[in-house]
Order: sequence, then C-alpha cells, then structure tokens
Amino acid sequence: MTRTFLVGGNWKMNGSVKSIESLTGALNASDIVEGTEVVIGAPAVYIPLLAEKLRKDWGVAGENCHDEDSGAYTGEISAEMLKDVGAKWVILGHSERRNIFGESDEFVAKKTKKALSVGLKVILCCGELLEEREAGATQQVVERQLKAVIDILPNEKDWENIVIAYEPVWAIGTGKVATPEQAQEVHKDIRAFLSRLISAGAAENTRIIYGGSVNEKNCAEIGRKPDVDGFLVGGASLKPSFADICNAMK
Ligand code: PGA
Repeated sequence: MTRTFLVGGNWKMNGSVKSIESLTGALNASDIVEGTEVVIGAPAVYIPLLAEKLRKDWGVAGENCHDEDSGAYTGEISAEMLKDVGAKWVILGHSERRNIFGESDEFVAKKTKKALSVGLKVILCCGELLEEREAGATQQVVERQLKAVIDILPNEKDWENIVIAYEPVWAIGTGKVATPEQAQEVHKDIRAFLSRLISAGAAENTRIIYGGSVNEKNCAEIGRKPDVDGFLVGGASLKPSFADICNAMK
C-alpha cells in the first residue's frame, strides 16, 4: 500500500476572524498537487469558522481534547465537541502540551483512544528534547511516548486513523530544522518499532510525518526521504506560502 502524503498545519494559539478569512481565501485559491492530503489545526473557538471557510477537500483539526466525554472539567473540550463543530482530526501529544502543560504519555494515550472512539483521526506527536538527543536517548524517548498509546491501542486496525508526527522539540519554532538524514533515521526506527509491537502492516501503512521548522525551502528535501510521509508545520502554516509546502512533492 502506498501512504498518501499528508501536510498538516498547526496554527497553535494564533489567528483571528480577520486573519482566517484572508488566509483561507488565499489557500483556497491555490493549486495543490493531486494526491496530497492537507489538514489544518486551529484554536478550538475558530474551528466552526475554519470548517465553513476552508476548501472542502482539506480537513480541520482541533489542537487538543480531553479524554472524558463531558463533566466538571472547566476550560476543557471533548473529542465529541470538536467533531460536533466540524473537526475531522485532532492533534494530540504536541510537545507544547507535554512540556508546558505537563501531559503524561498515559494521558495522551487516553485522549488518543477517546478521539478515535468518536470518529476523529489523530495526529499523534512525539519527539525528544535537545538534552535527550545529546544523551543519545532519542529512540528511547520516542518509543516510550508511542508505547503508552500502543499499550491501550494494540491492534493494527486502531492505527488506521493515527498519523504519527515526529517533532524533535529542539527543532520546533527554532529555525533549527532536523537534517533529512536525522528525520529519516528516526522515522525508520519508529516504523521498525511499530512492526515489532503491532504488526508489519501497521509499520507499512502508518504515515509518519516530520515537524519542526519546516518551511517552503527545506520541505522538498526532507519529504523525499523514504520514511517521511509529510509534515506538521507550525509557523509557516500561518502564511499563504503554506501552499508551497503542500506542493513539496510536486
Ligand atoms: P514550527 O512548529 O514549524 O513552527 O517549528 C511545528 C509544530 O510545533 O508542530
């Protein structure tokens, strides 16, 4: 099976009604190569607007959700709510959620299970801190983060709706992009890990995208690596030139 190339935008805590109207206008008018799937993650309050304005062949994602259906969780948003207002996807386990908001591997895993159960697809983020890379612990950290999810979602079928985003934390928002070789090495290790813990099919079919300072200049070289199936783009997804990243494989 060939893995469809996927480019995700992650707006983080950015945007306004005005900027979304103008950015969707530009993106909707751009020519995007056939066969690339595009998903944009937006702050939850803007999901209905984005779902209304964005071209219908692109998906809309939440940037987080809770693992409970409803209840006394002031300030939280459920997976069902995201779906209710037009999201088809949710980004989970982003390093900013893990490192700023203290989300554990187990909590990210529970959210992933919940999101899949309501019919959302998941962009599941993993990645090491600079000191972990320097200590030679990259593979160990990424495998620990993924194993928590595999422990509660052990079947190949569960992984049909999960895209893994490998995002080295030292490359996020820093302008220090991983080299194509560094990305390929970790992606290949992740695929081998999926093969060992789930199945050869899960390893072959699960898309593994790279994130961390991807822009329109560096994307093509990274995207050509055999185990890189797309990108998760932060800062560069806030500009009309995001369309050029969506066309990386042209
Ligand atoms: P960046 O962010 O592209 O701005 O480095 C990527 C991400 O956090 O998903």
